[in-house]
Amino acid sequence: MSAVESLSLPASPARKIIVAIDGPAGAGKSTVARHLARHFGLLNLETGAMYRGFALKALRQALPLDDSAGLEELAGSTQIRLEAGDDENRVLLDDEDVTGLIRNQTVTDAASRVSVFPAIRAWMVHLQQEMGAGGGVVMEGRDIGTVVFPHADAKIFLDAAPEVRGMRRFDQLGEKPAVQPEDVIRDLHARDERDRNRADSPLKPAEDAVLLDSTNLSLEEVVTAAEEIVAAKLAHESSPTGQKK
Ligand code: C5P
Repeated sequence: MSAVESLSLPASPARKIIVAIDGPAGAGKSTVARHLARHFGLLNLETGAMYRGFALKALRQALPLDDSAGLEELAGSTQIRLEAGDDENRVLLDDEDVTGLIRNQTVTDAASRVSVFPAIRAWMVHLQQEMGAGGGVVMEGRDIGTVVFPHADAKIFLDAAPEVRGMRRFDQLGEKPAVQPEDVIRDLHARDERDRNRADSPLKPAEDAVLLDSTNLSLEEVVTAAEEIVAAKLAHESSPTGQKK
């Protein structure tokens, strides 16, 4: 379980702040995180891509995805690195760039299965804390505000109705998707259930997170609302009475 060695840093963060964005799949986290990163001059780090990278390795080795001891052993000889980029993160699995191989349904499903195991989570959380330790990041995932950075400067929990999230995912599949909208909604629902009900670090809003429901908002409206939330947090922190917890 080696640590993250280096990050490509395309942006020079304006402030050493940490912004945490959590929420279920399809709520718009990646889009919002990307915009916030540009707006505030931060690095955008997608933690889900790390779980996906590890899941890909488990699949390649045909390891049963419920074999916690086997997965833990595999993690011990695995190196996952995340490199922030302009548009999306690059994921390096044992130095192989697997960025283009981790977004399909098989890996998506496997990522949500391997991420229930405490040893795998502890490993990932440690790597993520190292990556964000210097600040100047917006980190996106399921447990950033609750576990990875409980003292983040701003926390947003982005949510939307399951059908809306499912349709957004379906629309992203292109012109002639091989699946029906119902299939996408069903898969998303199964993933939600696993993420919300796992014993270790279940998906839930941090107590001090701002809830942002994107069900009835356009992309622009969600992004604007998120920018306002972060700006308000930062203004409050830098005010004479504002106290960072
Ligand atoms: O965010 P993304 O859909 O890429 O995440 C893939 C899976 O990885 C999620 O369904 C979730 O099970 C897991 N995950 C997690 N904790 C995170 C990020 C992702 O458990 N911080």
